[in-house]
Amino acid sequence: MAPIAIPTSTPVAVASKAPAVKSPDPDTTNGKLSPALTAMFHNWSTFSFAPIRESTVSRAMTRRYFHDLDTHAESDVVIIGAGSCGLSCAYTLATLRPDLRISIVEAGVAPGGGAWLGGQLFSAMVMRKPADVFLRDVGVPFEDEGDYVVVKHAALFTSTVLSRVLGMENVKLFNATAVEDLITRRHHEGDGEDGEEGEGKIRVAGVVTNWTLVSMHHDDQSCMDPNTINAPVVVSTTGHDGPFGAFSVKRLVGMKQIEKLGGMRGLDMQAAEDAIVKGTREIVPGLIVGGMELSEVDGANRMGPTFGAMVLSGVKAAEEVLRVFDLRKAQNDK
Ligand SMILES: Cc1cc2nc3c(=O)[nH]c(=O)nc-3n(C[C@H](O)[C@H](O)[C@H](O)COP(=O)(O)OP(=O)(O)OC[C@H]3O[C@@H](n4cnc5c(N)ncnc54)[C@H](O)[C@@H]3O)c2cc1C
Repeated sequence: MAPIAIPTSTPVAVASKAPAVKSPDPDTTNGKLSPALTAMFHNWSTFSFAPIRESTVSRAMTRRYFHDLDTHAESDVVIIGAGSCGLSCAYTLATLRPDLRISIVEAGVAPGGGAWLGGQLFSAMVMRKPADVFLRDVGVPFEDEGDYVVVKHAALFTSTVLSRVLGMENVKLFNATAVEDLITRRHHEGDGEDGEEGEGKIRVAGVVTNWTLVSMHHDDQSCMDPNTINAPVVVSTTGHDGPFGAFSVKRLVGMKQIEKLGGMRGLDMQAAEDAIVKGTREIVPGLIVGGMELSEVDGANRMGPTFGAMVLSGVKAAEEVLRVFDLRKAQNDK
């Protein structure tokens, strides 16, 4: 091979018969990167990855995924939707109860729901106080503007919460997976805390899932049966009504567990945020609803691009799980 002319000022080691490997210059990164990463600088021509066989990569992924599917087939809590509400719920719950096995089922490939941007595709995310307490807890930096705070990019909020949630041992995110139905049981009179639940009532006892790409092709392909996750408590945070949103509450109407949806009302930022947080609750035994999905049940106002209600609704949903968990688990184990 003809020798390659490298200007003397270019700090690249040249592959030749006797390669002159330049020693890492400790000044290059000013100690801001680790010595191991610094050592890569100026040495790319001699660089090589460790050897691997293709099947090793396949096995490394599939073994773990199927182990997770196996383990999480019996979960303690399923959270449907990994938007701002679902992720805030997962963070709170998994932090307080590392003993609970928590599955998050997210229809999209990318978790985060509508929280990658602020309103109208702008970057900044606005939260009214006191939602800043959640940001402090998670470690999301923000500017304090008095009655509200601003995270410089919504993606900074979502990626930080995601990284905290995904790092927790007791949480598994199944993304690109849609909840297609709810697992239900007859909820008999006397099963409720106060014995008031009547015949015809159901208790939610898990979710029916399918890969989202499969869910999207039920009209033109047959025999695509779903999978299941059993859990005594399900938290549904699937967002507004739409192609995917408000999934669980629409299903509850279909199952005649709630008469009809109230439908999301016009925008009233002031009223809407309090209503969503305060209204976050167990709608039917075993199913807690939070975030914008709740606006469809209660006929609450929409709130526009302010996200405090989503995170505090997630916190309240986690508190609701803890309130009902032992009872629902006992009923589920019968
Ligand atoms: C028409 C429209 C109007 C909007 N108006 C407002 C508004 O007034 N106020 C406001 O705050 N925000 C509004 N938004 C933005 C956004 O929906 C919310 O800000 C916020 O992201 C809602 O948070 P969430 O966590 O409740 O739901 P989302 O962020 O929407 O997250 C829900 C997640 O659930 C997933 N999901 C849905 N169905 C399923 C299923 N069956 N299985 C598994 N996963 C599922 C979705 O993929 C998504 O990731 C609007 C969005 C739209 C499209």
